[in-house]
Amino acid sequence: MSARAKHAFVHQSVPAPRVVFGPGALATLADEVARLGAERVLVLCTPGQAALGKLAVEQLGSRVIGCHAHARPHVPLGTVTEALGAIGLTRADLLLPIGGSSTIGLAKAIALATTLSIVAVPTTYAGSEATPIWGVTDAAGKRTGRDLRVLPRLIVYDPELTQSLPIGLSVTSGLNAIAHAIEALYAPDGNPLISALAEDGLRGMAEALPHIASAREEALQAAWLCGTVLGRTTMGLHHKLCHVLGGSFDLPHAETHAVLIPHVVRHNASHAPDAMKRIARALDVSNGPDAVDRLAALAKRVGAPPSLAAIGMSEESLEQAADLAVASPYANPRLIDRSSVLELLQRAFQGV
Ligand code: NAD
Repeated sequence: MSARAKHAFVHQSVPAPRVVFGPGALATLADEVARLGAERVLVLCTPGQAALGKLAVEQLGSRVIGCHAHARPHVPLGTVTEALGAIGLTRADLLLPIGGSSTIGLAKAIALATTLSIVAVPTTYAGSEATPIWGVTDAAGKRTGRDLRVLPRLIVYDPELTQSLPIGLSVTSGLNAIAHAIEALYAPDGNPLISALAEDGLRGMAEALPHIASAREEALQAAWLCGTVLGRTTMGLHHKLCHVLGGSFDLPHAETHAVLIPHVVRHNASHAPDAMKRIARALDVSNGPDAVDRLAALAKRVGAPPSLAAIGMSEESLEQAADLAVASPYANPRLIDRSSVLELLQRAFQGV
């Protein structure tokens, strides 16, 4: 295949979870779990979502053995070890994380160490439920990888469970999903199928976010599409920067995505003309430069944090962040060089 071919691609179908989507879908849990033949389900959630964990336990009736309400942000290794100990005692045969991608991440880390399957009930827009990507944080930082054993067998999307997600977190989580779609549109392993899903996910989320309180169903459906393309493509500079800023400088996950995505799109735009056409169409503008402005305006309009400074980054750390972001090679439409990455970070720091 010529490296210069404009429309050459490879598509490989990969296993995808069964998806049950709709308001009230939580009520299908017992039947859905019975389809899988599971009889000893362990529910996982954060301490803050213990009431939701209890709701799942009630739905599962005799098929549940308990709720482990100890999930934490970024899946610390200690929480995985603790959960594995608890599972040894309970002899669970299925994991059911209910919550954000941190809770689903805990289930994935357990699945990696056992043969247990996952049924995921997501309550944010971050998208982990639709990917084979796992991540665990220890003293050396956050390690991530891909393994089909951690891909959930079933996703139950119930938009009613996202009503309680605070508006601020809903907006940043939605921009996190948008970032997955955008980077999938210029990923080296993208193809027309991925692009169609990504464009529609981007459009759906961008339309939902300005009135998120009354567009939960639309946002969650878009989140599924955005998570699906995240799981099937290689992410670029944006995800690298978020990984660096979250892992080494402890910046909050969704907020970091929300601040950075307009800056990264501006940075990459002229090197990804086909992706920019789709991004423009999804954002209802006619060209790439307008799309960059529209994305920045969207983030501002929905009240996303204005800058890295506003979410706790220190100016002295920008140089070190740039070093880390260029330390190893990765795919991105624009060649990665330290000075332009530092400039991007400085703009994002100031919010200009
Ligand atoms: P999160 O899971 O860390 O949740 C943030 C907080 O919101 C938690 O306290 C949680 O209990 C609460 N919360 C979640 N849903 C709620 C709801 N409906 N109502 C009220 N409170 C709610 O946040 P997240 O953004 O979903 O996940 C971020 C983590 O997931 C990061 O560690 C990120 O790296 C990882 N992630 C992984 C993947 C993957 O494919 N592996 C994809 C996206 C994100």
